[in-house]
Amino acid sequence: MAKGKKSLKGLGARYGIKIRKQYTKIHLQLKEKRACPECGSKTFGRDAVGIWSCKKCSFKIAGTAYDVKV
Ligand SMILES: [Zn+2]
Repeated sequence: MAKGKKSLKGLGARYGIKIRKQYTKIHLQLKEKRACPECGSKTFGRDAVGIWSCKKCSFKIAGTAYDVKV
């Protein structure tokens, strides 16, 4: 893989560099490991757009599409 391209996964060579950079930024934010505000478990993640939940304690919270408001 060419140098500097390792973080631009998922879109291949499509859409142009600006779009891919934005996508990567959002994507990394989305996949970031988060701790559940209720039990502290790291299984906290996005369930659907705007809905964040914990797999361990089923705690659910409304957030934004790609990030959770603290
Ligand atoms: Zn939890």
